[in-house]
This record gives sequence, C-alpha cells and structure tokens, in this order.
Amino acid sequence: MSGVNEIRSTFLNFFAKNGHEIVPSSPLVPRNDPTLMFTNAGMVQFKNVFTGMEKRPYQRATTSQKCVRAGGKHNDLDNVGYTARHLTFFEMLGNFSFGDYFKERAIELAWNLITKDFGLKKDKLLVTVYHTDDEAAGLWKKIAGFSDDRIIRIPTSDNFWAMGDTGPCGPCSEIFIDRGEHIWGGPPGSPEEDGDRFLEFWNLVFMQYEQVTKEERVPLPRPSIDTGMGLERMACILQGVDSVFETDLFRQLIDATASALGSGPNEQTVASFRVIADHLRSSAFLVSDGVLPSNEGRGYVLRRIMRRAMRHAQLLGAKEPLMHRLVWALVREMGQAYPELVRAEKLIEETLRLEETRFRKTLVRGLAILDEKSSGLKKGDMFDGDVAFTLYDTYGFPLDLTQDALKSRGISVDQSAFTDAMERQREKARASWAGSGEAASEAIWFPLRERLGATEFLGYETESAEGVV
Ligand code: ATP
Ligand code: MG
Ligand code: MG
Ligand code: MG
Repeated sequence: MSGVNEIRSTFLNFFAKNGHEIVPSSPLVPRNDPTLMFTNAGMVQFKNVFTGMEKRPYQRATTSQKCVRAGGKHNDLDNVGYTARHLTFFEMLGNFSFGDYFKERAIELAWNLITKDFGLKKDKLLVTVYHTDDEAAGLWKKIAGFSDDRIIRIPTSDNFWAMGDTGPCGPCSEIFIDRGEHIWGGPPGSPEEDGDRFLEFWNLVFMQYEQVTKEERVPLPRPSIDTGMGLERMACILQGVDSVFETDLFRQLIDATASALGSGPNEQTVASFRVIADHLRSSAFLVSDGVLPSNEGRGYVLRRIMRRAMRHAQLLGAKEPLMHRLVWALVREMGQAYPELVRAEKLIEETLRLEETRFRKTLVRGLAILDEKSSGLKKGDMFDGDVAFTLYDTYGFPLDLTQDALKSRGISVDQSAFTDAMERQREKARASWAGSGEAASEAIWFPLRERLGATEFLGYETESAEGVV
C-alpha cells in the first residue's frame, strides 16, 4: 500500500528524474498578493514566472503545495464531510514548465507516471479536453491509445483556465478514474458528474495564449505548463478506498480523535469525525503560516473553520476542549514533510485550546437555543434570521456554522432577516458614537468587520488573478 508520504515522494522524484527542480511549498498566505485569501493551487507561487515578470534559475519545477480552499473564489468548506473528495486543506502535487516543454511532453509525462509508477489501469481512466482543443484530443489518442469515447470534450470554463481578465490562459485537460458502479455519479459532462464515481485527480493546464484585452487573445511565443494533482485523491485511488477520509493519514487522525473521546465513529457520527480531521489540518497549517483566529479577513475564515470543528466535537460528546489534544497526531503524520508544523506545534495547541475554551462558554447555550428554535421546523423551512443573528452576535456562532448545523435537516437560514438584524445593530452602533469624538472601540468595530466577513469577503471575490491550478 502506498501511504501519502510515499506518493508525494514518488511524484516529486519522478519529475526530478525528468529534469524538474523540486521547489518547496510556498506559505498558505500568498506573499505579495493581498487580494488572494489563501494559496489555493500550485501555480500561485509561480504567477510572475509565467508572465515573465520574474526569472528563476530553472525552467521546469515540481512541488507539493499546501492549499486551502475555504474562502474567496474556491470555497470547498461546505463540501467537506458531504463529498468523498473535498477537503479544506490539501496538498496539490504539480509539475511546471516555464516556456520549456509543452502539451505533448506534459501528456506523455503524466501518462507514464500514472500508468507505470502509480500502476493505474488504462481501462479505468478517461480524460476531458476543452471542446476546441483537437491537439490535446489527438495527443491523448496517440499517447494513451484512448478511443474517442474516453476523451470527453467539455465546452465550459471548467476546461479553460485563465489567470485573470488578462494574462496567460489556455485549455486544460483533466484526468478521471472510474471507481465502479458501487459509487454514485456519472462521467464528466453528464448530469451526474457531481457524484464521486468518476473521480477527477489531475488537471493539466496548457497555457498557450495571452489575453491582451477583453476581445483580443494572441498565442504565447513560449507556451507553459501548469498541473495539479490532489495528493489525498491519489492516495484514495491507490489505497482502493471510497473517500479521502479513509486513506492512511486520515485514519490516523480519526483514530487519535476516537481515543481522545473514548469512542470511535459509527454511521451517525462519522461525518463529525471527518470534519474534525479536515479542519484540524487546515487550522494547524494556517496557524503555522502565521494566521490567528480573529474577527476579520483571513483570521475570520480560520475562526469559522475552528468553530465548525468545535461544534462537531461537542456533538460527539466532548466534555472539554478536544482539538488541541489531536495536534500531536498531525505532527507525527506530516511533520517530516512540513517542519513548520513541528516548529509551531505549541502555538497551534495553545491557539486551539484558547479558542475552544472561549467558544465552549457560549457553544452549549447557543446550541440549546438553536435546537429549541428549530425544533418545530421541517425540511424546506427557514430558520429565523433574527435568532441566527443573536447566535452570531451573543454566542459567537458564525452564520455558516448555523447553516451547517441545519443543513442535514434540509433547513436554510433566512439570510435577509439576518442581514437586516446586522444592519440595525450597525445603525445603533453608529448612533451611539455620535458626538462622542472617541475612536471606535473594538467592541463596536469588530462586529462590523465580522459583518464584512459574513458577506463572504467580496473584496477577495473580485480578485482577478486567482489560481485555479
Ligand atoms: P473538483 O471539480 O473535484 O472540485 P477542481 O476542478 O475544483 O476539483 P482543480 O482546481 O482542477 O480542482 O485542482 C486540481 C486538483 O486538485 C484536482 O484535480 C484535485 O485532484 C485537487 N483538488 C481540488 N480541490 C480539492 C479539494 N477541495 N480537496 C482535495 N483535493 C482537491
Ligand atoms: Mg472544485
Ligand atoms: Mg473539477
Ligand atoms: Mg479541475
């Protein structure tokens, strides 16, 4: 069986052997890019290399990049625990060509790695290409020997990547594996594509154009390659398990949680164990990269992740703070590949302990209110937005935590009433400052900032140069 650490090194060594420089992961907080919430793809640290603004001493690189997709354009927070493949924190394995090799070599390298080194069976694999990319379709036919029905042409932006409104862009080709009828889902492009039967595990981006203006697109003189493979998804495939949560690393984290709690997962509780394991990873990696829970921006995303995990700990019957007691297991599993985790171990533990201790003061009471106020509701009903606001304002429940708590029962939150309540509070706060001449206190500012957070960080949404792969 290939464990994640082995898969990571197989990937990096394969590309090193093929003339790629192994470059360390960049931090989760992108340097020099305040508009991007978190590093969400391997290419982020190379953006300026692709545009030619920055030069590196190599033209081919390979990385295992820490990624968080829990805020901004790519937000998988709501998927975690509900699909077999989405995590808020994951490692993206990638190979990059900066104006060196292009499409043919990229497909050849990918094909050799997955069929030889990883030993995947050809008859389980299929690919997508952008509908007009005859070149890629022809290369897959030639290199992999696929028949036409295994090369699916996709006309949507899912298969056309762009760095932003202008800049490098191009078609992409994704590799999927069919894991069999026992898992629900259909091939890419079909109505059931959101299922987990056909699992996407690698995206190859062919940067071959430059978008000069909205209307004008020209070929790049030296096209580039950017790819991204989810490490946890590859582990899931190679270990023959149905979801990323059943891979070696996640089993260890779930075992550690079970022994801290004194009982393991069952059908009813397994989702909570999974959410806790995932959120432990994203929280720990974010703290080790310098993010601390707060009421604004990145820190608020971290707080939302932490508190969601803490609600699940409460659901599992934790009588005292749980999260900080799991950190050692994560450090044991991932500390060698990411020494920053070892360095920050105490800080991570302390941060989690403090946050959970604080939140637990209001969590139990808040959950009781949530239960009481939703007890008469049924599937399709809406939860009172004013109560959601009280939970947020008095009990520290981020809106998405309340939504998450009600989701499994098919109940949504009345968001416009929530926003109105927020607005009224803001007006009240404004009125009470009037004439005081004092600088606003934290007590007033923080809820305002938190409100900006609760509206999904529009500032980041407008980000134009966000990496996809
Ligand atoms: P999906 O369609 O499953 O959401 P994606 O198309 O958004 O994936 P890409 O942006 O193409 O993903 O990222 C490249 C690769 O990174 C994916 O093929 C997948 O292997 C991995 N990946 C993306 N998002 C996640 C996630 N939330 N958790 C784990 N792995 C991921
Ligand atoms: Mg996605
Ligand atoms: Mg996809
Ligand atoms: Mg993709």
